[in-house]
Amino acid sequence: MAAHTSPDDPSTKELLRALRVDGSADLDRRDPRETFGWDKEGAAEVFAAEMEALVDLQKRLFADGSNSLLFVLQAMDAAGKDSTIRSVFSGLNPAGVDVNPFGVPTEEERAHDYLWRIHHHAPADGRIGVFNRSHYEDVLVVRVKDLVPAKVWRKRYDHIRNFEQLLTDEGTAVVKVFLQVSRDEQKERFEERLQRPDKRWKFRAGDLDDRALWPAFMEAYTDAIEKTSTDDAPWYVVPADRKWVRNVCIAKILRHHLDEIDPQYPDPEDGLDDIVVV
Ligand code: ADP
Repeated sequence: MAAHTSPDDPSTKELLRALRVDGSADLDRRDPRETFGWDKEGAAEVFAAEMEALVDLQKRLFADGSNSLLFVLQAMDAAGKDSTIRSVFSGLNPAGVDVNPFGVPTEEERAHDYLWRIHHHAPADGRIGVFNRSHYEDVLVVRVKDLVPAKVWRKRYDHIRNFEQLLTDEGTAVVKVFLQVSRDEQKERFEERLQRPDKRWKFRAGDLDDRALWPAFMEAYTDAIEKTSTDDAPWYVVPADRKWVRNVCIAKILRHHLDEIDPQYPDPEDGLDDIVVV
């Protein structure tokens, strides 16, 4: 396949259509090892070109200061959330990016509604916010592990749709990505974590409990994605067994949504032509 270089070229549009969920999430029909015709070298070239475009768009977003972008990242353990953030967002100006991880809620957080700890981390105008896990945990792990009654989590899809619509209406583009890793690849990555001294710290015995609940998690992901993928706040399912495919897909998704915002440099003050800097 030819290199994807322009946001408007048909192959990019086709790729984004394939990744975007509109209706059925089709998790069992998607291939986490998909390459979309790239090889590693070609993908690296496309990725570099996309990052260059993203750097420019981020500058404009910041200078324009009237919109923001929220990137929600969800995945099973070892699917590469941290590595995605490192690979894609470290190429941007860190002064304009806020990364927020959401782990097990604290006692104070649990004493409030589940969106309480989320909302004030939504990005301010001009900024890109990254959620490493998110409010979706409250319809994923919470559902799978029975942490609240079904009658409570079932209502949350509506809340989430409305919450994200509120963000969109107020100027935040909401983009959601599920990194789809295969169960086999997760096994390999867990084994590597256990073997490598520099990765062992990442492994928690509890990770195996979640792995054992894989089918229930996939069911919960399917429901969450299908019920909350909207025109304004779409979900993308990104194949994540190959990091280089994952990175290009994410760069292209981000570029598409920043292009849609179409941020512009503000007009300069009048009279600048007459100024002499002494
Ligand atoms: P990660 O696995 O994302 O690298 P951690 O090892 O800190 O980071 O794990 C975060 C854990 O917090 C995950 O197991 C996740 O399921 C859990 N978690 C996140 N949000 C919630 C929530 N709202 N309720 C219960 N558990 C949550």
